[in-house]
Amino acid sequence: MSLPIQLISTDFDGTIFAEFENPPIPPRLVALIGDLQARGAKWVINTGRDMSSLMEALARSKISIQPDYLVLVEREIYQHDGVRYAPLIEWNTTCDRDHAELFKRVQPEVGRLTDWVNANFRATVYADPYSPFCLIAGNNGEADLIHARLDEFCLRFPELTVVRNDVYARFSHVTYNKGTALAELTRRLRLTRKQVFAAGDHLNDLPMLKLEFARCLVTPANGIESVKTVVRQQQGFISQFPNGAGVAEGLEFHLRPR
Ligand SMILES: [Mg+2]
Repeated sequence: MSLPIQLISTDFDGTIFAEFENPPIPPRLVALIGDLQARGAKWVINTGRDMSSLMEALARSKISIQPDYLVLVEREIYQHDGVRYAPLIEWNTTCDRDHAELFKRVQPEVGRLTDWVNANFRATVYADPYSPFCLIAGNNGEADLIHARLDEFCLRFPELTVVRNDVYARFSHVTYNKGTALAELTRRLRLTRKQVFAAGDHLNDLPMLKLEFARCLVTPANGIESVKTVVRQQQGFISQFPNGAGVAEGLEFHLRPR
């Protein structure tokens, strides 16, 4: 019988990687994913990190396997070509172009938004190559308040959305997120959503934690309540274990014949 899971999409931080654990990615999960890769399944790390930050953390975790694909900054796709992670040019170019066009229109309004945040909160606001507005809030309560204001701001630009992960937030184009990137990989691999597994713990994972994109949904014990609710509503698996141990349990759950 063919493998029921052909594409494994895992968020990184808080999902497979626990910064302060040793090792940060548990050997049981590495063994499980390695075994599935040996049997033909593909693994994608679907993260908000950029390339250098992910490579640094992966190197530090000293695992014996490597992802076949990366989704970086929740939107760019890279494929391991045997030597390095090469961009999927067609997707990434369109993604860049759509963001540039959108952010050009948003840019003139960002100053007032930044002023409002700085006047009301002790938060860090900056621009980077991925967004004209990036936020690091002082705590999650303040991040919630700022997030509400950002959602309101987005109403003026139908293609603009907020990507939030814990106290971090940035703007993005609605067409590109962890879910649509996963759908693109599923399409390229000529698979269907029935063969796809997705695991995540936080708000930026919600776009991929949908039955529309993956039949097998998992959140580890440390997943935030709103993520657990969404996964539970779709008959996904909520592990009693945190981080990578939870993802391993979720993989075993979805691999079990039912
Ligand atoms: Mg996470």
